[in-house]
Amino acid sequence: MSIESVNPATGEVVDSYDETSESQREDRLERATETYAEWRETPIERRQGLLSEAADVLRGNVEEYATFMTEEMGKPIVQSRAEVEKCAWLCEYYAEHAASHLQDEVVASAPEARTVVVHEPLGPVLAIMPWNFPFWQVFRFAAPTLAAGNVGLLKHASNVPGCARAIEDVFREAGFPEGAFTTLLIGSDEIDAVVADDRIAGVTLTGSDGAGRAVGETAGRELKKSVLELGGSDPFVVLEDAPMDETVQAAVQARLLNSGQSCIAAKRFVVVDDVYDEFVDRFVEAMDEQVVGDPTDERTDVGPQARPDLMDELHEQVEKTLEAGGECRLGGEPIDREGAFYRPTVLTDVPEDAPADREELFGPVATVFRVPDEAAAIEKANDTRFGLGASVWTEDLERGERVARRFESGLAFVNELVKSDPRLPFGGIKDSGYGRELAEDGITEFVNTKTIWVQ
Ligand code: NDP
Repeated sequence: MSIESVNPATGEVVDSYDETSESQREDRLERATETYAEWRETPIERRQGLLSEAADVLRGNVEEYATFMTEEMGKPIVQSRAEVEKCAWLCEYYAEHAASHLQDEVVASAPEARTVVVHEPLGPVLAIMPWNFPFWQVFRFAAPTLAAGNVGLLKHASNVPGCARAIEDVFREAGFPEGAFTTLLIGSDEIDAVVADDRIAGVTLTGSDGAGRAVGETAGRELKKSVLELGGSDPFVVLEDAPMDETVQAAVQARLLNSGQSCIAAKRFVVVDDVYDEFVDRFVEAMDEQVVGDPTDERTDVGPQARPDLMDELHEQVEKTLEAGGECRLGGEPIDREGAFYRPTVLTDVPEDAPADREELFGPVATVFRVPDEAAAIEKANDTRFGLGASVWTEDLERGERVARRFESGLAFVNELVKSDPRLPFGGIKDSGYGRELAEDGITEFVNTKTIWVQ
């Protein structure tokens, strides 16, 4: 069997790859297990050094990797290059900080013996990853996991097999031993068997809450550690004292980054009555000015959706929202041209329980809600089953932080887009999943935090 990657801007087949057969899967799992036995004993300084090398490999091949992403899932090329750079930064972060994040802690509050907490690796960890940030999401898992002495196996989304292979090459070229990072080109129907395999110590998934529930269920049954980074419906709260120029500009970026396909994109814009009309008028105008088109063109702001079926699903959510009484102020339909292009869209007056209110809209569609005041804004912001990110826009920073503390989310930003940063923990609550990636919290997810008592 082979897996084809299809360019969503043109519908053309980019390449085709052989699926990993059952016997190859078995060989790769075995190899990963053998490598783990050596890798966990490899001094952390060496592991960190190899991550620095991986950063160099990434920086040395930005154009090649960026082109893979743009061809396979349609990311505008400027953003693809930035993604490769960000992966290099992430590798450098753990190359510098892994040892200090994992250092032994002597516990001063238990002085009757020598008590030490140590962090040991767990074993081979399986990562099930999505197509939207096909490099970043994988490195976000791989860099800390490998630095901690685990080995990684990747089941990437079926539409980005070329990216999966390219990432495996990055680690090989950097000098990581064979088996430290392995790609399995398998379908999601084979995941259960891999998670249940005794050699797998843990599993992490980034993707939809449906996939998260399925994998979390298997991990729970098998008593394996899991981390789930699922969808979001982030609120973007505009208060009456928001700096309007910056706020509108940020709102467009927050919604349209990666052609609207980001878990931490702002999806619900919650605006207080005093500035609602001004915000909506300016937001609609700015959304309309965005350049939609060929993702290989550096002037493009918004590329195609990653797959035609995802665009159809998005359009259905928009249509159902309009049927329920929502108003369409901009867009609201696919663009009549080849490829999965959707018009930047702004919906208003959306009734409660319509898809744009309740579900995640994973594309360039913004929904704006009018609320009377700050208290109602916080209530609306939290009125969702998701809890990934949230932002608030105000001139008053103390007020901003007060509001940020009241968001039911894993990330809360004041006057800044919600974004991931290697130095800061990243993850959600509620239906956005559990566990954390990045920073110290990320590297300690897949370790055995072991207590040693020496009497
Ligand atoms: P999925 O969640 O289905 O895919 C993400 C990853 O999970 C892929 O590797 C996929 O494999 C795998 N997967 C899917 N179902 C299962 C399962 N039952 N058991 C194990 N693994 C599974 O995302 P889609 O591509 O279908 O996108 C659908 C929606 O998901 C989007 O519209 C968006 O709302 C959300 N999403 C959220 C992301 C985020 O960053 N949080 C990223 C991507 C999507 P395969 O590709 O082979 O099916």
